[in-house]
Amino acid sequence: MSGKLRAGILGATGAVGQRFIQLLDRDPQFQVTALAASDRSEGKTYADACTWRLPGGMPDAVKTIRVQAPHPPLDCDVIFSSLPSNMAHAVEEEFARAGYPVISNSAAWRMEPDVPLLIPEVNHAHLELLQAQGPARKFATGGYIVTNPNCSTIMLALALAPLEQRFGLESVIVTTLQALSGAGYPGVASLDATDNVVPFIENEEEKIERETQKILGRMKNGKVEAAQFAVSAQCHRVNVTDGHMGAVRVKLARPATLDDVQDALASFTSLPQQMKLHMAPEQPIIVRTEQDRPQPRLDRDAGGGMSVTIGRIRTDKVLDFRFVALSHNTIRGAAGGTILNAELLAATGRLHPMLARSV
Ligand code: NAP
Repeated sequence: MSGKLRAGILGATGAVGQRFIQLLDRDPQFQVTALAASDRSEGKTYADACTWRLPGGMPDAVKTIRVQAPHPPLDCDVIFSSLPSNMAHAVEEEFARAGYPVISNSAAWRMEPDVPLLIPEVNHAHLELLQAQGPARKFATGGYIVTNPNCSTIMLALALAPLEQRFGLESVIVTTLQALSGAGYPGVASLDATDNVVPFIENEEEKIERETQKILGRMKNGKVEAAQFAVSAQCHRVNVTDGHMGAVRVKLARPATLDDVQDALASFTSLPQQMKLHMAPEQPIIVRTEQDRPQPRLDRDAGGGMSVTIGRIRTDKVLDFRFVALSHNTIRGAAGGTILNAELLAATGRLHPMLARSV
């Protein structure tokens, strides 16, 4: 008995699934005990089912685990889901109904009013939604659904949180440059990606606009009241392997100097840092002052891939301020963010071994 919480990964062979397995190898709190994917992989060992595409090789601990269908029961205490959105809604609900806590990367449940869209540094107060979720949806004891935002939304919402807290926001414009791994594998065809920028990512602009308002909304009478500031997003797929970038312009509700804005971003810390959660970076936001940073290749791994790097902070002639943000899309934007969510759920008494829950 390791004393660790046992994690089951849905979509385990994909881009996000592999990142989960890499990040959870030797994790102090979670141990991977169950893997699920499509019927192409079902019944095979993970080593046979998965073409490993991350640097460093497939961890030995998962090689002989047999890949299962994504249906309960699975031998685990918590479900980390990275399934395609079109099937995630039904499957994740099935697990929650069977009493599993589900933390999902897919878009299926994000905008449901009773589902937390969680960034632990930004809106841990939204976990209050879980009190009513299980009973209302007839989930078995211990079952619930928490979601991880879209990978670009996480970067944007983390960057905006300290500004919203200190000065208030009136409007936000973001233009993203998003990495190829954000589309999973095989993702964008090489002939579309090479020597090119594609100014369309399906549903991405809508997701960024509405998810940001939900995340930065406040709890009122047991519900999230969405933030009122306007968000306008334009998204582009660029020829970068990992690391989403956003050129951001903001109009603030209260006056601020450039130094105020820089200080609000650089000094931002929150509950995960106070609680010293394992995946929490010391600095959720790293401000760089060089004129040519952030850059994906140089900055995506900052804080173990969990920090957002912000540079080029300037006053703006149209709105008030502008800056460039960057974060790792499969670490902070997916698997790492989900593990941090799970750490917060465990640290706040919402995640327990299955056996302890059933007695
Ligand atoms: P991916 O590389 O295409 O992987 C998809 C995974 O889902 C694979 O393990 C695949 O298994 C499995 N799968 C596909 N169809 C299935 C089915 N019918 N039944 C069961 N399993 C099935 O995709 P990804 O990039 O990892 O993304 C996974 C989810 O995370 C998506 O909802 C995506 O929007 C979200 N997300 C991705 C990122 C990112 O940066 N990539 C960031 C945030 C959120 P097989 O190998 O057996 O086909």
